[in-house]
Amino acid sequence: MNIIWARWVVAFALLAIASVGIGAVAGVKAAMAFALIALVAQGLFSTYHTERLWRLLDAPVYGQVPSAPGVWGEIYYRLHKLAKRWHAQVRQVEQQHSRFIQAIQASPNGVAMLDDHDQIEWCNAIAEEHFGLDAKRDLRQHITHLVRHPAFVRYLNSHQYDEMLIMRGMGEKRQNVLSVQVFPYGENRKLVLSADITELERTDSMRRDFVANVSHELKTPLTVLSGFLETMRELPLGETERARYLDLMEQQASRMRNIVDDLLVLAKLEGDATPPSDQPIDMHAVLRQLRDDATTLSGGHHQITFDLDEGLTVTGVKTEIVSALGNLVTNAIHYTPEGGSITVQWRQFAGAAVFAVTDTGFGIPATDIPRLTERFYRVDRSRSRDTGGTGLGLAIVKHVLQRHDAVLEVKSEEGRGSTFTVRFAVQRTARHQAVHA
Ligand code: ADP
Repeated sequence: MNIIWARWVVAFALLAIASVGIGAVAGVKAAMAFALIALVAQGLFSTYHTERLWRLLDAPVYGQVPSAPGVWGEIYYRLHKLAKRWHAQVRQVEQQHSRFIQAIQASPNGVAMLDDHDQIEWCNAIAEEHFGLDAKRDLRQHITHLVRHPAFVRYLNSHQYDEMLIMRGMGEKRQNVLSVQVFPYGENRKLVLSADITELERTDSMRRDFVANVSHELKTPLTVLSGFLETMRELPLGETERARYLDLMEQQASRMRNIVDDLLVLAKLEGDATPPSDQPIDMHAVLRQLRDDATTLSGGHHQITFDLDEGLTVTGVKTEIVSALGNLVTNAIHYTPEGGSITVQWRQFAGAAVFAVTDTGFGIPATDIPRLTERFYRVDRSRSRDTGGTGLGLAIVKHVLQRHDAVLEVKSEEGRGSTFTVRFAVQRTARHQAVHA
């Protein structure tokens, strides 16, 4: 017998004893009246609390325990304990769920969950971005009503998900490339994973272009060289002609050598560690070398002016700085016709070291300026070939400057000339005692 029945038995026994007592004193009618009143009172008490419990279960207020005497108090207390336990369990599940959602949200990949009718059950922010979805608005929408890309619709309906799908023309500007794969799970449900591979594809296509360009650049002098070899082998040539042909062959060979040398420089720059930021370069030596090289290269055909702050220097790797700044001076000489003038400036502005080369040469059309530092990009191919250019000079400049926290600015006007300015970061700028050359 449990406590409830025991209480009931005790209450009934007390009522019976009290009724019998009243009956003995005041007669049977009084005893029956007493018993009736007691039963009605008990009935009302029980009904009141049943109704109260009913209302409580209808609209439970968590944490509020109604008080009541006897069994009803016990019932309310037990209900409260039960609710507390459930509440703790629900909170635990909710926390696990929110941690799980946070983890998927933190994923760099798009994740969308589809039900057995391919309707969206849930998707993370990256999937929203990849497919142009809205996690709340598009809930329970069939995914192909929203992602209408024909390749995706075909892929989803094919039920062959071993390979991933590459989707091009995605994103707001329709320029992104996505890799998408579906993973079936549970009862006919699907997990759609997506990754943005735009950058990867771009690098891959740049690598392909680069290999094609290198092959082309090397093939041209090689073809010319083979042509000369064939001519020399097949035609009886006089001494002068032979010497001329050998000169031309030498030119082509040196063109190939320059290309390979520049490619090796670029490869080294890409692989090397960042230049030290605490070692000031011997700028006197650098500027002296630039001046000597420029004078030799120009051969007196240009008027070259140097405006130098001898005490100014930067930190980094000397050979790289010589190569970058030297390239700019060489270009100015190559692309300025005879009689033109070139000014080289090395000055400090707003705390930063600035190197500028201004020429009165051919100039560069505005549309070409943003592409100048691309590998093998030339404004005028034949002019570059005439000067023995490889088309890699400004690509090297860009790399060296990036590594030395410097930026390149190009201002040019076709037919009037150009200014190439290099601005070093203030933290790379230093000063040393001026030692005049
Ligand atoms: P290149 O070896 O052909 O000189 P660069 O990378 O050094 O290659 O330069 C790329 C192109 O930029 C050159 O082919 C040339 O057309 C143009 N260019 C560079 N410097 C100048 C300049 N000072 N004046 C005019 N054009 C220039």
